Amino acid sequence: MLLVGNGRVVTRDPQVPFIEDGAVVIDHDKIVAVGTRAKMDAAYPTAEFIDAHGGLIMPGLINCHTHIYSGLARGLAIKGCNPTNFLENLEQQWWNIDRHLTLDGTRACAYVTMMESFRNGVTTIFDHHASFREIPGSLFAIKDVAQEMGMRACLCYEVSDRDGKEKLDQSIQENADFARWAASQDSDMIAAMFGGHALFTLPDETLDRMVEANNGLTGFHIHVCEGMNDVYDSAQKHGCTSIHRLLDHGILGEKTMLGHCIHITPADMDVVAETHTKIVNNPQSNAPWAPTPTPTICCSLSRRSCPCSASTPRCPTWHGARP
Ligand SMILES: [Zn+2]
Repeated sequence: MLLVGNGRVVTRDPQVPFIEDGAVVIDHDKIVAVGTRAKMDAAYPTAEFIDAHGGLIMPGLINCHTHIYSGLARGLAIKGCNPTNFLENLEQQWWNIDRHLTLDGTRACAYVTMMESFRNGVTTIFDHHASFREIPGSLFAIKDVAQEMGMRACLCYEVSDRDGKEKLDQSIQENADFARWAASQDSDMIAAMFGGHALFTLPDETLDRMVEANNGLTGFHIHVCEGMNDVYDSAQKHGCTSIHRLLDHGILGEKTMLGHCIHITPADMDVVAETHTKIVNNPQSNAPWAPTPTPTICCSLSRRSCPCSASTPRCPTWHGARP
């Protein structure tokens, strides 16, 4: 049994939201008591004491959209990389990085991402992974690191046709394999979603293949309208918005989560709300590409009762490691 004390406790209990000199008592994986340090010391005298050194003692944060593949990119300067828009940033930097990621590289990125997450109070991550150099087994490699580190993780691989059919096939298979494995485990620490990059690298046939491979096992985790090229692609090739493409393919719903959503329309927001789809907004990584401030987007969503969560601190790295 552990007693975490010498800190201020944020309880999330409306009756007693904050305890100035509080303590939390933990027995294996359960919190068994929360109260003042004096009361907890008296009630659990044999518990092992963990010193919070005057810091906050609070529930772990959840990062709803991160990219483990960017874990080693902080401060990286790639020769010739000088993006002026969102698509160039992908082509010159992030796709360039993930095309070089081996399984060993993925593991290293997972370790550093999870260590930094813990240091920032994050105990649960929803990761959206890409390692196009070596796709098969990549989600399982991340899963192994998460289990070793004690991180609660929901993982997916970003399906994309950007590197040809063989890589596309592998990315669909990796999601399907991992989703089946996760379903067989029924764990509250490791889960799966079915990942997709962004609509402009996901033709209709690919969306159909993703739905078929998922076979109803889990929800989808997809980038939507992070850049205007995604908006133009859906309008020019499909005559509709990205949100309507997802709707038409049966991908929206309460288990599905859409990342970024910078350039979606008010009508799109209505569709998201009516289908109970989740949105994860990424304030800092959106900043270079968003004409509309994040608070405005979030207010528009909340007026429609859209479930909207936030993603930090990893995304500052994801888009922050600019040369
Ligand atoms: Zn993202």
